[in-house]
Amino acid sequence: MSCVSKEKYASYLERMVSVTHSQPVDRDAYVQLITEICKDYKLTKGMSEFYITPMMEQRGIGEVFCDFDNGKSTKVLLRIRIVSTSKAVIIGTLYSNPDEYVHEDVDVQQLDSMLRIILGYVSRVRLIKKLEEFGFSDLDGYRNFRAFARFMDVNNAENKLGGKVSFYIDLHNFTLINQEIGRENGDIVMRKYYELLSDTIGETGIIIRLGGDRFIGVFDRGVQDDVFRIFSGANIAYDVTGQQRVNVSVAAGIYALPIPYMLKSYGDIMDKIMLAGNVAKRHDGERIVTYGEKMKSESDHVKMIQSAFMGALKNEEFIIHYQPKVDIETKQIVGAEALCRWQRDGRVIPPDEFIPILELNTFVSDLDFYVLDHVCRDMVRWLNEGRKPVRVSVNFSRKHLVDINLTDHIITIIDKYNIPHDLIEIELTETTSDVMFSDLRRIVSSLQREGVKTAVDDFGVGYSSLNLIRDIPWDVLKIDKSFVPETEDDSNISNVMFRHLISLAHDMGLECVVEGVETDEQLKIMRKNSCRIAQGFFFDHPLSVDEFEDRLVNKTYP
Ligand code: C2E
Ligand code: MG
Ligand code: MG
Repeated sequence: MSCVSKEKYASYLERMVSVTHSQPVDRDAYVQLITEICKDYKLTKGMSEFYITPMMEQRGIGEVFCDFDNGKSTKVLLRIRIVSTSKAVIIGTLYSNPDEYVHEDVDVQQLDSMLRIILGYVSRVRLIKKLEEFGFSDLDGYRNFRAFARFMDVNNAENKLGGKVSFYIDLHNFTLINQEIGRENGDIVMRKYYELLSDTIGETGIIIRLGGDRFIGVFDRGVQDDVFRIFSGANIAYDVTGQQRVNVSVAAGIYALPIPYMLKSYGDIMDKIMLAGNVAKRHDGERIVTYGEKMKSESDHVKMIQSAFMGALKNEEFIIHYQPKVDIETKQIVGAEALCRWQRDGRVIPPDEFIPILELNTFVSDLDFYVLDHVCRDMVRWLNEGRKPVRVSVNFSRKHLVDINLTDHIITIIDKYNIPHDLIEIELTETTSDVMFSDLRRIVSSLQREGVKTAVDDFGVGYSSLNLIRDIPWDVLKIDKSFVPETEDDSNISNVMFRHLISLAHDMGLECVVEGVETDEQLKIMRKNSCRIAQGFFFDHPLSVDEFEDRLVNKTYP
């Protein structure tokens, strides 16, 4: 005997059509109908699964719903798998207990028809939900800017934004973390850090990913201490046992929304938190920076420099100073570094005050080409006057790395003045990202093919990796003064490192220049480690071109 009468089956079909076509979706009616059917047909369990693609199904990444379960021991009675036209996979499985009830064919046929209707419905509802999720999340499943905008709009309409704290964060050294633990583990770490913040911020705030390792959001003042603690550093595990861990911290820009607060534009908040965030990134010490008046003057300063730059370049307000590089055994000048200064309204602005700002866009490239051009001009004059010039190094910002014509551009300038290529050296600083690393290798190799010398600048500050000197064919290694030991104590770790670095560099045929040499003690340490070339106040400050030309006359220090 079959479970239900024909009339009952017909009425189920009718109710099913009405439930699955209801607008909006009536979830309660759906659940009730499923429960009734399962009970009537003496099923023990009814389940549905949903996967966005067959690939996700294979990997088991999807949603599994148990729509009914009476807990009795079960066996699969019917299983239907449908692939929708958009390639979503929907699976329905019905279970029974043959010890209690044996189903007839007619029962199974009726269940089959109803299950197909249900699966069509489930796929539609789930797909709509997925589409919604896609609209508000990025491809990696992080909430995106639209989710932020929606959150802000909803809360603004309810007058709930005043007093909340908005933030912009940039994960600290995430490229390095990726390098250290591998990209896949890096992804896990980023996801967990995001989830930790998201859980801490809770329902009254939001965190979304802008892209890469940058996030923005808002939170309630009540959770500020907890959130700030996570900003300052959280120990995140990336394996199942929780043994493998890495510390993640951020540079954060904060803006507390005033009370009351009326949202005018998202841009207003974004400007403030990003400005504060960029300050946090630039200053090594303070990593959580609150937007304030100080920042306003900083942004005015940035605007001033940017708007004055092009005119200043045309007026030749940038002048070149030369700092000698000296062989400490012979006391002879063996080279020089070109360093630029900005002469504006009778004041000399040092490079640290304007280079980082020019690096915010491509202005710095114009400046570097200008400096190279002026160095070549000076050099032609020295050559024409019969002076024996020394090799001069010019700093090139890492902003140039993406320029695929950089080498051509440099050669064009040098050749315009007929300068022998090996009289010019290009100083580049180390980088931390993989992409930049390969750009750096490409550029250094092509300059080398042209006979132009290359130097890695400021080695020892930041995260100098030995790969940088092993995998890129530099000519010169410029060791930052912070890397030079302060005393001669041989057992001291910085002495050991210094000694090994110098001998490694020499073994690889690199010339070593120590920067920032100020004392006799430092000279002694250099001598002890067979490191011969020094650049620093001990010999000379950066000199004006006239002063430098005087030095070139006999080239030797007493
Ligand atoms: P850098 O390339 O590492 O240049 C060396 C800096 O160390 C110079 O600072 C120099 O004056 C300073 N210095 C030299 N000897 C000593 C010493 O004995 N003790 C101390 N404490 N400092 C010493 P400066 O001229 O202020 O330049 C700062 C930075 O600005 C440079 O660092 C370089 O990164 C950048 N820069 C300068 N000119 C240019 C340029 O034309 N283009 C680019 N892209 N960057 C430039
Ligand atoms: Mg330099
Ligand atoms: Mg340097």
